[in-house]
Amino acid sequence: MSFCCGASMIGTKGTLTHYRTQVHNVPLLYCPVCQRIEVHYKVESEYEILAEYAHGDGESEIDFQDYVLEDDAEIFSNCVSVDSDNKMEAVRNQIDLSLDLLAVAKQMEDKRWQIELKRRLAVMSQKLEKLQSGNGRGA
Ligand SMILES: [Zn+2]
Repeated sequence: MSFCCGASMIGTKGTLTHYRTQVHNVPLLYCPVCQRIEVHYKVESEYEILAEYAHGDGESEIDFQDYVLEDDAEIFSNCVSVDSDNKMEAVRNQIDLSLDLLAVAKQMEDKRWQIELKRRLAVMSQKLEKLQSGNGRGA
């Protein structure tokens, strides 16, 4: 659990603004005492990448949930890690699927879909990297 001012922070979801881009449904931690809000540490790097991409594409709003297929229960649970091998496998499958779709989107010359898929790929490769680096110890 995260603490702030000695109080435990509350998990919630909300909209954050990155420059002019609004990102909806971002998992957040909220301190009931000083009302500080921060991006949930488990999705911090994914949020940064997604916000950067969306901002770079001149997007005015996006939905975090469309890109990061993270289980809410897992994000907000206290236990550290479950099965990182299975998680890595799942992320790899999602990357494969997105690459297939990207080929389809190119064939259809659907620019908007291509942009969305590229964003999703960026978020998922970041996630895979994180899983891989966290897996090095102990094995
Ligand atoms: Zn606080």
